[in-house]
Parts: sequence; structure tokens; C-alpha cells
Amino acid sequence: MASYCCYLGMPSQNYGMLLLVLRHVETFLNAIDTAGGLPGQGFAAVKLTALGNPVLLERMSSAILTVRGLFQRFDMDKSGFIDMSEFLTAYQQIFPFSSAKEAGRTFSHFDQASLGKVDYVAWCQALSLRQMPGIAESIIQSYGHQPEMQGWLGDLSASCLTQNEYELVLAMRQRLETIVERAVSKSVKLMVDAEHSYFQPAIDHMTLRLMKKYNKQGNAVIFNTYQAYLRSTHMRLKVDMERAHREGYQFACKLVRGAYMNLERDRAAQQGYPSPVWDCLEETHACYEGCLRTVMEEVAAGRAEVLFGSHNEDSIQLAVQLMHDLNLKAGSSPVYFGQLLGMADHLTYTLGNHGYPAFKYVPYGLVHEVIPYLLRRAQENASMLKGARADMMLLQAELKRRALSELKRRALLIASKCQSVN
Ligand SMILES: Cc1cc2nc3c(=O)[nH]c(=O)nc-3n(C[C@H](O)[C@H](O)[C@H](O)COP(=O)(O)OP(=O)(O)OC[C@H]3O[C@@H](n4cnc5c(N)ncnc54)[C@H](O)[C@@H]3O)c2cc1C
Repeated sequence: MASYCCYLGMPSQNYGMLLLVLRHVETFLNAIDTAGGLPGQGFAAVKLTALGNPVLLERMSSAILTVRGLFQRFDMDKSGFIDMSEFLTAYQQIFPFSSAKEAGRTFSHFDQASLGKVDYVAWCQALSLRQMPGIAESIIQSYGHQPEMQGWLGDLSASCLTQNEYELVLAMRQRLETIVERAVSKSVKLMVDAEHSYFQPAIDHMTLRLMKKYNKQGNAVIFNTYQAYLRSTHMRLKVDMERAHREGYQFACKLVRGAYMNLERDRAAQQGYPSPVWDCLEETHACYEGCLRTVMEEVAAGRAEVLFGSHNEDSIQLAVQLMHDLNLKAGSSPVYFGQLLGMADHLTYTLGNHGYPAFKYVPYGLVHEVIPYLLRRAQENASMLKGARADMMLLQAELKRRALSELKRRALLIASKCQSVN
């Protein structure tokens, strides 16, 4: 089986790249058609940086992080919950001219379960980019350029999306929906790739929205991707699973270790913030294992689907062992495996031979874009050498088997000729 993924270059930093982006949409649609035409379950993958300007994704991410960060500010007693009185106090700081009735209405929007308090999951759930231009506008109207505007209120208003940016977000969302609808019509599962951490909040935001719309209980179409090399990943995975549970849709994810380690570290060092990536490989391995266990339990509870994108034999063995322990049958449980085309074939074939749905991930695009991508994957892949050795051993064994069977065939032929002469 094969899944099709396009690796496409990012549009450049201006907003006039519509044609390129539309070409990308066409390529993704073709990938879905191809995956849908293959026997068995089809998978395709999409990269959001190919669907719009990455600068917009970064702006959107920082806006989302700001609103999430507001949770800490509103949760004054640090209990993990914001109650009505905490909410009213903080709300009046941001909007001093608002009425108590308006603040109460906003609190009800966050407190959808009517519990009288809101936790972090509910806070993220109610997050709406649509309100951002209005929030920025209200802050500026309330404070103008007073000293209060220099602190967190200033940061908040600066990171809110403008109306123009919000409309660009809607256009990007629309392109993604076109791709998703094709996937639904072809019964192809669509994985949204994880990218650089500073794009990821925006990618998560769009993907979870789609999951809510398209992932019905027992049948997920949209898979979000989680990178175990990020310190925040295990917590994020749990929050997103809890959110899916509360909102009643099927959670689905691709679990990988992560492909942008050097870039993340270099950027963090250059800009002077702590690296979001674990300090050493062992920590990434431990995080991958932790996430794997968490998601498998959710699968066993019938609430999740997962694809393990890894060439690491230990991780694959652990996943297979847990499937056995949790009574998840190969083939009939929504647990999938994926390796890049040309890498760790020994794992893909062994899994496939034992009835596990194993996929080859086929990156394609222009040669000058795909080759550097594949080279980066090969460089990052610590398990590749081990895998290459295993591939070599398999190849040697296969050559030996073929040579022996050829010898046997010839020997039988000679024996039968001798018999007929006699
Ligand atoms: C089907 C599939 C889909 C994929 N999709 C994505 C995607 O959407 N987004 C994405 O980012 N990547 C993706 N990848 C690539 C993936 O993240 C890894 O780069 C690659 O698979 C290597 O990890 P591993 O588990 O196979 O192997 P391993 O060799 O066990 O692990 C290597 C990985 O460990 C991490 N690592 C290495 N050294 C250190 C260190 N010193 N400190 C901390 N961590 C370290 C890095 O993430 C490195 O890639 C995908 C891979 C596959 C097979």
C-alpha cells in the first residue's frame, strides 16, 4: 500500500503567490485521487505552508499563543480554573468600558458546559480568531497610547490579527476545505503534516476545526501530526484528545519524532529563547514512547486512530506489543504504520506480511525540492544505519534464497534429463 504526500516549496514572502498556491492545491487533489484509486485504505498528506503565506501562519500562531497565554493571566489564583469573578476582574482590565452583562455573556461563551468555571481545554476550545480584529480595536479605543498600552495589553493588541489578515486566513482555510472534501469523496484519510514549531499553533487550530467537522465516531478522515522531539508535545496531545472527547468527535493523529531539529535549535539560539526541542535523543525517544502509550489507550477505548510514522524498530515493536496487550487486532483496528519510500523497507514489509496496515510515504514534487528533503530525512534518521544494515541482511538472504532455488531447479532439470536418457 502507498500513501501519497507532496513535498512542495513554500511560497515566497509576498502575498502575490496565489497562482503557485493554486497549483499546489491541484497537486494535492491529484495526490488524493491517486491514493483513492489504490486498493485498500488510501492515505494522503498535506503541508499547510504550501497553501498560503508562511508569514501569515506565523502571525496566526503568535495570535493564538497570546490568547492561550491569557489563560494564565485570567487564572489569578493559579488553580487551573477561571471562575466567574476572576474572569470579570481580568475582562474589565482589558475592556474598562464594558458592562458586567457583556462580560457575563463572554464568560458563558467560554463556559459552554455551564460549570461556572473554565479550564484550559475549554478556554482553547472557545478560541476564535474571528474576534481578534475586534479585540485589538477595542483595546486601542479604550487605552489609546496610554502607558497601560506598553505592557501586556500592548502585546495583546499587537498580536491580534487585523481584519485583512483574518480574511487571508479564511482564504487559506477555504483551500484546505477543498482538499478535505476531495479526500472525503474518495474515502482517503488526510494527514496534515507537522512543520516548524512557530507555525504549529496555526496548523493545529485549522486541523482541529476540520477534525471536529469531518471525524465521525469510528471513522476519522483528518489526522493531525505530533512531533515527539518537542517538549510540549505530550501535554498538547492530551489536551487535544480531551477536547475531541468533550466535543464528541474521533481523534486521529500521526506520531513522528520531528524533522526540523537543527532549524528549531538554531532559530531559538539566534532569537534568544529556550529551544522547544529536547536536549538529547533519549528524551525524544522517551517522549515518543509516552505519546505512543497515551494514544494507544485512546485507540483501545474506541476514541482514536493513529499512524506511527517512524523507522525506529523499537518504537514499532512497542506499538505491536501494545496492540497485542490491548487486544487490538492487526488490520481491523485503526492503527497504521508509515515509513518513507526507500527507507526501512524491512519494517514495512515485515509489518505488511503480518497483516498490519503499513504504508510507504511517497514524497514527490520538483526534483530540486524533493532531493534536499530526502537528504535531510536520511541525515536525521539515526535509526537509518541500523535499518540499512537490516535491509542489507534481508537483501543478502533473498539473494541466497534465489540462488539456492535456481541451483535446485537446475539440479532437478539435470536429474530429470538423466532419467529420460536412462
Ligand atoms: C510516514 C512519515 C511521516 C512523517 N511526517 C512528518 C511530519 O509531518 N512532520 C515532521 O516533522 N516529520 C515527519 N516525518 C519525519 C520524522 O519526524 C523523522 O524525522 C524521521 O522519521 C526520523 O525519526 P524516526 O522515528 O524514524 O527515527 P529515529 O532515528 O529513532 O529518530 C531520529 C529522530 O530523533 C530526533 N533526534 C535526533 N537526535 C536528537 C537529539 N540530539 N535530541 C533530540 N532529538 C533528537 C529527531 O526528531 C530525529 O529525526 C515523517 C516520517 C514518516 C516516516
